[in-house]
Amino acid sequence: MAKELQKEQNFDGLGVAVGIAIGPAYVRQSGAVDVSERKILKKEIAAEKKRLNVAIRLGRRQIRRLQTRAKAKSGANGEELIYLLDAYLHMLQDSRLVRGAENRIANDQINAEAAVKAEIAAIAEVFQAMDDSYIAARIDDIREVGNRLLRNLTKTPVKPFSAVPEGSIIVADQLTPADTAQLDPELVAGAAAMGGSAEGHTAIMARALGLPTVLGAAGLIGAVRTGDTIIVDGNTGRVVVNPTPKTIAAFERRRAKHLKQTRRLERLRSLPAITRDDTEVVLQANVELPIEMSMVTHAGAAGIGLLRSEFLFMNREDIPTEDEQVEQLKSVISVMGKRPVTVRTLDVGAEKPVAALMNGIEDGAVSNLGLRGIRLSLAMPDVLETQFRAILRAANSGTVRILLPMISAVTEVRQARDLLKKAAGQLTRRGIRIPDPLPPLGVMIEVPGAALAANALAQHSDFFSIGSNDLIMYTLAIDRGNEHVAHLFNPLHPGLLRLLQFTADAALRARIPIAICGEMAGDPRYTALLLGLGIRELSMTPSNIPLVKQRIREMDLAGANHRAEVIMDQVDSGRIAMLLDDFNALA
Ligand code: PEP
Ligand code: MG
Repeated sequence: MAKELQKEQNFDGLGVAVGIAIGPAYVRQSGAVDVSERKILKKEIAAEKKRLNVAIRLGRRQIRRLQTRAKAKSGANGEELIYLLDAYLHMLQDSRLVRGAENRIANDQINAEAAVKAEIAAIAEVFQAMDDSYIAARIDDIREVGNRLLRNLTKTPVKPFSAVPEGSIIVADQLTPADTAQLDPELVAGAAAMGGSAEGHTAIMARALGLPTVLGAAGLIGAVRTGDTIIVDGNTGRVVVNPTPKTIAAFERRRAKHLKQTRRLERLRSLPAITRDDTEVVLQANVELPIEMSMVTHAGAAGIGLLRSEFLFMNREDIPTEDEQVEQLKSVISVMGKRPVTVRTLDVGAEKPVAALMNGIEDGAVSNLGLRGIRLSLAMPDVLETQFRAILRAANSGTVRILLPMISAVTEVRQARDLLKKAAGQLTRRGIRIPDPLPPLGVMIEVPGAALAANALAQHSDFFSIGSNDLIMYTLAIDRGNEHVAHLFNPLHPGLLRLLQFTADAALRARIPIAICGEMAGDPRYTALLLGLGIRELSMTPSNIPLVKQRIREMDLAGANHRAEVIMDQVDSGRIAMLLDDFNALA
């Protein structure tokens, strides 16, 4: 059996962040919290038991709060949840989990986290041996409660992957964007997961960190164990488990070639993004984490076209204060000097829930079609006002624009503008200097209804930025994070192209700037089409800037315009792809 597991095995998923990583696997099951074991002295036993007790009491308080929320839910689901949470409360009383963990602290002289983890594993072993599906399902409940204890013991923000050996490749069934945000590129070499697709926020985060990553690799988890050698090829989507020396050598050669190409492209850094017939294009960076700033400057970005401000709220259980937000925003804005930074207000919900904002809101309410983005912000005006005040204060350190996510109607822009003015008034009364005039307030065009109403929105917006990721998702009804429909996610669908054209025309007519900041903007395959539609500002993951710049520098805008015209007359996405690839091949 052991021999069988050592055999080289190949898995194919979606290469979502380029590069090749080779190293030991670190397998993480969903929801698990990584903790390290530490031996303790006899005299530390009482203190360690006390820590466990504090974590238990906190856990009970958290569960009671969840129960209060569940009570607000009507119907069978609410009742079932209350019943389940009751069971969780019992598990945090005089249960086997609690007694077992206390005994392990005393007898094995280990820290409380390690004791809880060991006890969960022991209980799981006993339950699994029982061959009873009801009991087997209970182990998930015990894990849930145990993980809550571990999170409380390790204190928030939870630092998953902190115990990962250097050079590891993370393997997981699912990686959330918040998990990925905590991967340290200095420590982790790459990642592979069974769920996810190329346009989801996990993929975007992996690209931001420059971590070779494959998502949607079915069957991976059962086939790889922590410590196995693994190759992740983010260019092709291939994952190789236990590769032979010959396979490793072949991938090392590919990796060397990839690095050479990247270095060659870096030489374009200081050259302008200008077509052969002299049209200048503004290439900006999308930023999800301040850690990316060195990459942004290295790539020679003309500004930040999209600062996803969710990082301020991620991996913590409280809401950041105004001062904290100012500091973090300043750390990004001041690096850019005079180059503009477009700060997007919170786009929480769907793949990116934020624990601290969910009080009183049931989980399902923040789905992709629910209280996401501006909708959630307008439902919590205090949070949005605080964010506006923080942006206005940080704006003194550079040149800032403000962008609203998930706009679908003019009323939302009006309400947000009123709150922005209110926030400005509050600061002025406090004697705090703010930019005068206020920063431009723009909207993301990422909901089909917004694209179709672009004429009206343009009258109330200072600029547009097209979020093609969500625009494709909502237009084609394809969940952008779902690997099962990832093959249907098609930027060349004629329906989507019509919306892009409609939006661009509306902006050009109203004479407001228009940019695109979805993943399409960073793919050189689409550059000619986007320029042909009249868009001159592209914002993308910083590492793609040289690729897109190269494409622009070898292209004639007149040719791109003409090809876009031909393409916009087509109704079949296959033919559109052919016409575009044909044009790209000629350049
Ligand atoms: C988009 O939807 O294209 C976009 C840029 O926003 P996000 O990916 O953060 O949803
Ligand atoms: Mg979006």
